[in-house]
Amino acid sequence: MTTQTTQRTYRLEQKRRITGEFPGPKSAELAARRAKVVAGGVASSVPVYVADADGGIIVDVDGNSFIDLGSGIAVTSVGASDPAVAEAVREQVGHFTHTCFMVSPYEGYIAVAEKLAQLTPGDHEKRSVLFNSGAEAVENAVKVARVATGRTAVVAFDHAYHGRTNLTMGLTAKANPYKSSPAGSFGPFAPEIYRVPMSYPFREEAELKGEDAARRAITMIEKQIGAENVAAILIEPIQGEGGFIVPAEGFLPALAAWAKEKGVVFIADEVQAGFCRTGAWFASDHEGIVPDIITMAKGIAGGMPLSAITGRADLLDAVHPGGLGGTYGGNPVACAAALAAIESMEQQDLNARARSIEEQVMGRLRRLAEELGANSIIGEVRGRGAMLALEFVQAGTAATTKEPNPAATKAIADACLKAGVVILTCGTYGNVIRLLPPLVISDELLADALDVLEAAIREAA
Ligand SMILES: *Cc1c(COP(=O)(O)O)cnc(C)c1O
Repeated sequence: MTTQTTQRTYRLEQKRRITGEFPGPKSAELAARRAKVVAGGVASSVPVYVADADGGIIVDVDGNSFIDLGSGIAVTSVGASDPAVAEAVREQVGHFTHTCFMVSPYEGYIAVAEKLAQLTPGDHEKRSVLFNSGAEAVENAVKVARVATGRTAVVAFDHAYHGRTNLTMGLTAKANPYKSSPAGSFGPFAPEIYRVPMSYPFREEAELKGEDAARRAITMIEKQIGAENVAAILIEPIQGEGGFIVPAEGFLPALAAWAKEKGVVFIADEVQAGFCRTGAWFASDHEGIVPDIITMAKGIAGGMPLSAITGRADLLDAVHPGGLGGTYGGNPVACAAALAAIESMEQQDLNARARSIEEQVMGRLRRLAEELGANSIIGEVRGRGAMLALEFVQAGTAATTKEPNPAATKAIADACLKAGVVILTCGTYGNVIRLLPPLVISDELLADALDVLEAAIREAA
């Protein structure tokens, strides 16, 4: 089943090619201009500047072609210039770019909400609100949960990432770089945020079952906060920035069941995992959980900025008219892009495509891990669909202390980049390489990228 589910035609040649110096002279020139005007607090993982991108390829200003295993952080699942998305955007900008849905509404917003009601888990009555960024979606899910429950506490998890605005920084677990560094802190942070342990099978005492990990979190919530004070539990069904952590089976259903019993709003943050990324419309689908509210962004609109919350009608409608919104939320061009991107996902069956990518990548990486042996730097290979990761440890510690190995992780990512593969790292300990290819990448290009990655891992091992 390693054949592609669809035959695509690509605008750009799907081939890796590094010519001459790296970074090239034009990228170096842009880097020099950037240093004079762009704030130092904004960092880029890649030192080259983009001229074009399509399918699984990013072309830089010096004519180098890189294989894209990042999708701009899980955004361009349908490709960076999906013809259907491009056409829908062109069509919409020819009519109107903005009127503000809170002033003079339009159909695209409603059509996106209809689609979200259809695609998100559960067949209950649903309502949606559209925004621009993932962080904004998370903030608004919390706003809704607080009004609907009359409670204030929000429970978030170890290794969580929910964004960089004030409330979402507080919800995010990792301090550096998101909340503070030796240079200073972005705080103070919002009150009434409580952190409880995640289920992280690789770093857990052996055999801690999902239900037991959920019980550990629930006990902490009941003893330290009190269920009656909790407005919402907020969780990524598969954690993204924290390290592509897939909780033990049974963890999410047990939490969801507890939340339901206690009148706590269960919010699934699917900003990174949603929209075919994991081989299902939502990561929640893998364990059959039906969240009260889902937050979405990244993959939703083929690269245009759009985010959404979709949830139970009784919760969303508890908010007074005028209580939710924003100038740009549900921008008509972004809505047109989302409708086209979702249609592309359906027509090309990108859920099946993500599962095929999983099969190809997991097969290769598991064979490599086996060959390098239990004492190698590969601690674990994990993930679902096209949201896959390798966690690296110090050689010889995989079975014992699992000492994180961020140096090898960085060396591998750097070696891949020099060879023409854009690869992202993540993880609380900076020791995870994550693979987030566009779902429309060809099998040949994916295989070539894996050759490069495999060589880099062997070199570091
Ligand atoms: C990226 C991300 C966010 C924040 O989205 P932005 O669009 O960057 O604000 C929130 N939650 C998760 C799970 C994410 O991966």
